[in-house]
Amino acid sequence: MGGEEGNGGGMTKRMWWGSGAARVAPVVVVLLMGAGAVRAAEQTCVFCEIAAGKGAAEASVVYRDERVVAFMDRAPRNPGHVLVVPREHADDALTVPPATLGHLVQVAQRIARAIGRTDLKAEGFNLISNNGKAAGQTVFHLHLHVVPRFAGESATAAAGEPRPVRPAEELAAIAAKIRAALAP
Ligand code: AMP
Ligand code: ZN
Repeated sequence: MGGEEGNGGGMTKRMWWGSGAARVAPVVVVLLMGAGAVRAAEQTCVFCEIAAGKGAAEASVVYRDERVVAFMDRAPRNPGHVLVVPREHADDALTVPPATLGHLVQVAQRIARAIGRTDLKAEGFNLISNNGKAAGQTVFHLHLHVVPRFAGESATAAAGEPRPVRPAEELAAIAAKIRAALAP
């Protein structure tokens, strides 16, 4: 009996450990998955990769400084469509440091002026930023769109409408023109 009690007690103890582990394990797994998911999100942010100089989009960079990078939108609304992004990840205009947001706008202005000096013959431009899914944001790394506009354009390519991705060589050629126009 004593042995049985002992075994029973031992089993009871092991069962407590077992059920404790069973209770703790999913929490640990979820925490580990959570940390992994956060790292994966950081690693797979397409604009972070471009800002870090990785990927094919590097060829279409038009401007870079210590805080921002500007590059061709791969699916432009019009030729010369540039995105200006902070190099440090921020989801949107609410979370970015205000000074960085200000610098982003200043760089966007310089780029719009430079586009005006190219032979793209833009007659106006949109300077826009979609913030949040409801506003049409699809890449959750803050960006300002600088979109050259032309008189008499079709009004059908509304914001949010899917556009074709243009060939890398075409984007690189336009980027070269804008870079040249930015040069002092
Ligand atoms: P939004 O809808 O305001 O979030 O705009 C995201 C923009 O990013 C779209 O105009 C896309 O065409 C553009 N885009 C997405 N991925 C890339 C990429 N890898 N390189 C350049 N532009 C991109
Ligand atoms: Zn990012």
